[in-house]
Amino acid sequence: MTTITLVQGDITRQSADAIVNAANSSLLGGGGVDGAIHRRGGPAILEECRALRASRYGKGLPTGKAVATTAGALDARWVIHTVGPVHSVSEDRSDLLASCYRESLKVADELGARTVAFPAVSTGVYRWPMDDAARIAVETVRNAATAVQEVRFVLFDQHAYDAFARQVG
Ligand code: ADP
Repeated sequence: MTTITLVQGDITRQSADAIVNAANSSLLGGGGVDGAIHRRGGPAILEECRALRASRYGKGLPTGKAVATTAGALDARWVIHTVGPVHSVSEDRSDLLASCYRESLKVADELGARTVAFPAVSTGVYRWPMDDAARIAVETVRNAATAVQEVRFVLFDQHAYDAFARQVG
């Protein structure tokens, strides 16, 4: 059984086996969580991301997929980078958002991670409505077949925390 916990705060301050990054497909950094992770984690993470670009993801990491690097100076062993979908009103991309959580947990299982901290993927510059993103995140984690013991959602503000709390119940 996976336990879901909620924390309001900065994901880069968390201690966990793996911290998930809401990356973009370039893997070369960005704003939001991505910028914060690279700032606090230091240059080792970006170096590994560059190497992944060169070796496996020349066209970028596809939306809905996940890949791990080490975590540099963060209090974690790994950063799992996943690319959320940009929210669209004309196309249902829910399964791509669910895929971010599924694929990240799959990578966590491959690594042997038991505690995994997630941000609210796609709810920043990718504009996914918070309540819907929270529903997809919680449902997907609840339905995942994973050996991860704790999934911790780290929500940056009260609005995000409340949305996740309504889903967890
Ligand atoms: P995306 O491009 O997937 O939308 P963002 O990083 O822009 O990713 O935002 C995802 C969510 O993470 C937003 O709800 C944002 O408020 C939140 N966020 C931003 N910085 C942090 C942080 N340091 N820790 C946790 N959550 C964060």
